[in-house]
Amino acid sequence: MNTLDPADWSALRALGHQMLDDMVDHLATLRDQPVWRPMPEVLRESFAAPLPVQGTAPEALYARFRDEIQPYVTGNLHPRFMGWVHGGGNPVSMLAELLAGAMNANCGGRDHAGIVVERQVIAWAAAMLGMPAGTSGVLLTGSSMANFCAVLCARQKALGEAGHETGVAGARLTAYASAGAHRCIPAALDMAGLGRAALRKIPLDDQFRMDMDKLRAAIAADAAAGFRPFLVAATAGSVDTGAFDDLHIAAEIAAAHGAWFHVDGAFGALAALSPATRPLTAGLGRADSIAFDFHKWPQVTYSCGCVLVRDPAIHTATFAQPAPYLAAAPRGLAGGFPWPCDLGPDLSRGFSALKVWMSLSAYGTQGLAHVVETSCALAQRLAARVRASNRLTLLAPVPLNIVCFGIKGKSDDEVIDLVADLQEDGLFAPSTTRIGGRVAIRCAIVNHRTRAEDIDALVEEILRRIMAPAAG
Ligand SMILES: *Cc1c(COP(=O)(O)O)cnc(C)c1O
Repeated sequence: MNTLDPADWSALRALGHQMLDDMVDHLATLRDQPVWRPMPEVLRESFAAPLPVQGTAPEALYARFRDEIQPYVTGNLHPRFMGWVHGGGNPVSMLAELLAGAMNANCGGRDHAGIVVERQVIAWAAAMLGMPAGTSGVLLTGSSMANFCAVLCARQKALGEAGHETGVAGARLTAYASAGAHRCIPAALDMAGLGRAALRKIPLDDQFRMDMDKLRAAIAADAAAGFRPFLVAATAGSVDTGAFDDLHIAAEIAAAHGAWFHVDGAFGALAALSPATRPLTAGLGRADSIAFDFHKWPQVTYSCGCVLVRDPAIHTATFAQPAPYLAAAPRGLAGGFPWPCDLGPDLSRGFSALKVWMSLSAYGTQGLAHVVETSCALAQRLAARVRASNRLTLLAPVPLNIVCFGIKGKSDDEVIDLVADLQEDGLFAPSTTRIGGRVAIRCAIVNHRTRAEDIDALVEEILRRIMAPAAG
């Protein structure tokens, strides 16, 4: 064998057709399947095998995939998966992944259609979120990376070239985000070499938003103490409750101090698509940078996030690293600057732009707005069911698509057990969080397949379980 390709393609073609048929069947019959199944121990052990020396036929590998892998993955395709904030994927994106795999394009740079498609997707993203034409951006694995890249751009603005050469020592940079910000914000400051302590966590108001008076006070105190406030990272759709910081006020406060204004809109930024929720995102278009995910509300298959950066010059200055073997040429395959590798930390990168381009084209902003609206309406339905029950209690306002509720008379441990039981029984997959020191059942309605009957069935199942007399 002198190539990894088969001598005769017909068996591979047949296997590929079989896979495609099976996967379409899988998507078409999701409702008949459990939301999630724990992976049996014996199967886990079969993935502690030694490194294979000899090859195995792809047919045999596919059989193992079907029996040992597919049934035990996350479950976020399923309409009754409501945990964390997971997108449900979409069939067009699935097919696009096959096409992208067949192309095996390296979208780190060079002048080819993969780069052109990614630029199209970035321009659409900017338009979708109210950023100006000419906004720079790049696709990344997710919002954790997007937030990290935004922090690096903010550092670039604050320190310029000196920050690249000598680092941040002695710069005394301080950043500000709400106490409800995602954990990737302190992580981004850590990874950027600024330290988690450089992040001031501003307390929340009674609507779970950053308290803007406290933000002003914290910045003033830091500036008086000789720190350099360089970044205000507002949240558009907080991970726990879907709360929106006041983006206009945050933008003004940042501008008053010459600080970078970043918005983590991992899922919440998509509220801009619907007239009903757009007011929550007022001020989003003033951001210096926005982090958001295509793999959450826009239902693109994992993984795909995006950072948008208003000032293309700062964006490239942050990431471009000179290297003779990567020099851009005026023409030929080495043309077409700027390359995505100058807009983020990755050099080699896959063709994620294809699944985003195909998904956005297939469904349009109308289709995605409908998903956003349905998710929010279902969250309101769930909130109403919780309010109407004398056993359940709403633990946070529901401005968007996340509902946090508790069970009266149940301890934190009992609530955690109940959620794990629902998951292990394959019925529903909500998750938990802590609100005001107390464990909450957290339902994030993100999946485009979720319907009113799923919400009602969840409430009924929880009530049935907490009313049932304790088993002997
Ligand atoms: C999901 C999420 C993130 C992290 O995004 P990943 O795509 O999981 O890396 C950051 N911020 C918020 C508000 C999120 O919901």
